[in-house]
Amino acid sequence: STGDMKILLLENVNQTAIEIFKGQGYQVEFHKGSLPETELIEKIKDVHAIGIRSKTKLTANVLQHAKNLVVIGCFCIGTNQVDLDFAAKKGIAVFNSPFSNSRSVAELVIAEIISLARQLGDRSIELHTGTWNKVSARCWEVRGKTLGIIGYGHIGSQLSVLAEAMGMHVIYYDIVTIMPLGTAKQVPTLDELLRKADFVSLHVPESPETKDMISAPQLAAMKDGAYLINASRGTVVDIPSLVAAMKVGKIAGTALDVFPNEPRKNGAGTYNDELNGWTSELISLPNVILTPHIGGSTEEAQTAIGMEVATSLTKYINEGNSVGSVNFPEVSLKALDYDQENTVRALYIHQNVPGVLKIVNNILSDHNIDKQFSDSCGEIAYLIADISSVNQSDIKEIYEQLNQTSAKISIRLLY
Ligand code: NAD
Repeated sequence: STGDMKILLLENVNQTAIEIFKGQGYQVEFHKGSLPETELIEKIKDVHAIGIRSKTKLTANVLQHAKNLVVIGCFCIGTNQVDLDFAAKKGIAVFNSPFSNSRSVAELVIAEIISLARQLGDRSIELHTGTWNKVSARCWEVRGKTLGIIGYGHIGSQLSVLAEAMGMHVIYYDIVTIMPLGTAKQVPTLDELLRKADFVSLHVPESPETKDMISAPQLAAMKDGAYLINASRGTVVDIPSLVAAMKVGKIAGTALDVFPNEPRKNGAGTYNDELNGWTSELISLPNVILTPHIGGSTEEAQTAIGMEVATSLTKYINEGNSVGSVNFPEVSLKALDYDQENTVRALYIHQNVPGVLKIVNNILSDHNIDKQFSDSCGEIAYLIADISSVNQSDIKEIYEQLNQTSAKISIRLLY
């Protein structure tokens, strides 16, 4: 029952999440910080769910102590603080929040487009250091200029709408065909986008295909005096090529929010220590805006993350719905009507080996299976089945029989 559900929330996860969990009747234990490993191991032993951000390392060593844990919520974008494979093998689903900060990133890029066009960064630095330098040469309005968006996903498409509202023309390039918003136009090749755009903004994921996607040949294909913005991933732009293109005036300005090798902590000096090499060249060039990966860093995004992850966790706990999980097969069935008696939902997580469904369906076949959905992902498979016309002793028997199957990883019955 949901009142028995114990959830441990660490690292000051957003208040919205706490309200959602309390609204579900879960027992919530909240800590502002992360916990030392020994204390974490002690606490994780009997909780059913845990919510963390990036500082809590859920290694195999920690997770092996969790006896009742069914789900982990990462209230952030990244999930590499969790041993995802180990969690999956233990039947623990992991969720994160990849898209709740899309709007924040799109707004930052809008700010950068105008800042680059007006050389705002340089004027501000000059005045901060005592120089009055009123110039209009090579400063532009953005109205009527063409924005080329590479990757028309959650962020790219939002940016498209905002840019059109300022009177920009929008073209985009994506590996899939995507319906344009407003009067934006998809172009068939990256080359065409680069040739036509006054501003190029990158919104692709990090992947082998996007590594150094913008390097010397692509920069050469761009318009003379064009601008480049990267708030996607640091691997997407080859920095030395960009520096070279800036030096010869081919590129009139650039805004970078992400870097190939980002420092892990805040503080003066971390930037130069960990990003050494090309940074000194970049910082000495005009019209270069550098920001420490703040694209998604807003209060609104934090609230949205709290909402998104808490919703994923409650749907998984209450319904078994694993859509959006990062380490698990994605399975969902319409929420069970718990008022309806004599119905049980079986959530059966098992090793992805031949013959399992035959055995499971044999167990269930004496009853009426209303709905069933299963999927696999690597070594893990997950089955949801709604079974009706069962009484309490049937439910007990189903549980015991499923529990004896050799491929079982974990079982939950919802009724
Ligand atoms: P998304 O998955 O919604 O969209 C990505 C788009 O890129 C998709 O439409 C996809 O088809 C397209 N794509 C993939 N490979 C491509 C290729 N080789 N060429 C052209 N298009 C390709 O992702 P999103 O949420 O819009 O995020 C985009 C990027 O922004 C990601 O790299 C993400 O990590 C990054 N991001 C950065 C910040 C920040 O703080 N700066 C915050 C959030 C996300």
